[in-house]
Amino acid sequence: MAKHLDIYPTLPDVLYVRSNLDGSRKRCSNCCLYLKNDYRCLVHAKDLFIGHLAVCGYHIYGAPLAHRPKGFSCDPLDPKLSGLIDTIGTSCDRCAWYQPGEPGSSPLCLGVYTKGEPAHVEALGCCARWLKKLVDTAPWPKHRLTATCAGQPRASLPRQDSLSARSWATCGAR
Ligand code: SF4
Ligand code: SF4
Repeated sequence: MAKHLDIYPTLPDVLYVRSNLDGSRKRCSNCCLYLKNDYRCLVHAKDLFIGHLAVCGYHIYGAPLAHRPKGFSCDPLDPKLSGLIDTIGTSCDRCAWYQPGEPGSSPLCLGVYTKGEPAHVEALGCCARWLKKLVDTAPWPKHRLTATCAGQPRASLPRQDSLSARSWATCGAR
């Protein structure tokens, strides 16, 4: 087993989160900050169209909202820094750092370490160091959403390999 290199972050460095309670992958449609009827996000700009299958580094598992709560306001996230990407859902088992465990043991992450050894993760966990696999065999959902709104088609969202440039920068892993 490869030994720990000092440059590798730990689970809290990369904001690791455990599997969604319903076994789904991380995406806007299961984030409590999503405004599902408006195709918007509570913490991104009000006029930024975001499809149900996008995700960013601020994902928090929970039931999405229907509309923006009255009176809510915040300094919106910059999508170039929040890691916003168009995806079918992110998870450790769709990440290039992921190694399925031996029979009877949990999967490992070769990009995040715990006490000098690759961290144990869950197949449907995720973190800010998520890196799209070159060959991804994860199943696609049955229905792809193609709606557009306010002149911002889904295709306008950036496609990136890293979920969150913000956290990569802070964990020193890159
Ligand atoms: S863009 Fe990020 S914070 Fe907003 S709904 Fe999607 S996952 Fe949640
Ligand atoms: S496998 Fe990927 S998404 Fe999961 S903890 Fe490791 S780097 Fe993060």
